[in-house]
Amino acid sequence: MALSELVEEVDVVVIGGGIAGLSAALYTARQGLRTVVISIDIGGQLTYASLIENYPGVEPVKGLDLAMKVQKQAMDFGAQIVIDEVVKLAKEGNSFVVETRKGWRFRSLAVIAACGKAPRRLGIDVEERFVGKGLSYCVVCDGPLYRGKEVALVSFGEKGVEGVEFLAPLVKKLHYVVPSEKDRSIETAKRFSNVEVYPGYRVVDIYGENRVKAVKIARQNEEKILEVDALFVEIGFETKIDFLKPFVDINERGEVVVDIYGQTKTPGLFAAGDLASTPYKQAVIAAASGVVAALSAINYINKLKGISKSIKADWEKKRGKVKKGFRL
Ligand SMILES: Cc1cc2nc3c(=O)[nH]c(=O)nc-3n(C[C@H](O)[C@H](O)[C@H](O)COP(=O)(O)OP(=O)(O)OC[C@H]3O[C@@H](n4cnc5c(N)ncnc54)[C@H](O)[C@@H]3O)c2cc1C
Repeated sequence: MALSELVEEVDVVVIGGGIAGLSAALYTARQGLRTVVISIDIGGQLTYASLIENYPGVEPVKGLDLAMKVQKQAMDFGAQIVIDEVVKLAKEGNSFVVETRKGWRFRSLAVIAACGKAPRRLGIDVEERFVGKGLSYCVVCDGPLYRGKEVALVSFGEKGVEGVEFLAPLVKKLHYVVPSEKDRSIETAKRFSNVEVYPGYRVVDIYGENRVKAVKIARQNEEKILEVDALFVEIGFETKIDFLKPFVDINERGEVVVDIYGQTKTPGLFAAGDLASTPYKQAVIAAASGVVAALSAINYINKLKGISKSIKADWEKKRGKVKKGFRL
């Protein structure tokens, strides 16, 4: 069967594995709803924040560690995590069909869009062809797949430091491509004997039949070909929500307009976190708005299923055996 024919039926699809999406999934899964989180990476913008010092009740914590904790909570309640990009959304009657770049299709009763920002692309022609085929925008998600191999990483700053420290002990050789000649991550990279640094270079091409086999990097008149099994790109974020546009209103700040319940103009489609028109872009607010959207989605689904009782708070988890979530 072709991948595009595969349809998995769930109650809720959460788009985005940042703090908003993971918090939403924790709530919907805890209420016994079959929940899948589809995300290009885990942690979203939080992975760029070196230390979060203003998350109530939590000692200063690395952004990624905070996201990983919420991911674990959500998975412990049965949420399923799929590392992929949502490229298409459709509504058929009361259900949504969510399609991913790798060709997976999920049918759900509700969708929570929490795709605040997507990892920034390199912007080269062949890029899309290699996504998921050796080209990754998430070192933490896909790095372990390349243990003992030769890989390239394009990054800078704090994110570059984290990427190098994560990959260097895992891989045989790491080619570290830094757009700037002077960057604090270069010092870190030089501490590892298996890391070669290319300051001031950018990736200009990717080669391979079905997977990444090599990349071309360039600086002024110099060019080099690096033979690698994977290319990791962590160069910031951009908003990419074309697939949502037919179903939502967008305000003058480019945010998806929601009411106080996280509801968009399409019944069953909720939005949360930095993507939504909620004020103040902060981790705790993103998490809370994810929870608002989740509780609203639970009530919406209950109504569709003919359950008249609506929940106002979530103080008790749904009884019954909790199925542990898994990650694809
Ligand atoms: C450098 C930096 C430092 C910060 N420091 C702090 C701080 O100290 N305290 C604080 O409270 N806040 C801080 N913030 C803000 C905070 O990180 C954000 O407000 C919060 O992380 C937003 O979470 P989110 O889940 O709404 O969106 P995001 O974190 O943007 O997550 C969106 C997720 O959706 C995924 N995605 C996007 N498009 C798609 C798609 N089509 N298909 C599948 N997945 C998709 C992305 O890969 C990502 O995982 C900081 C932000 C940055 C960038």
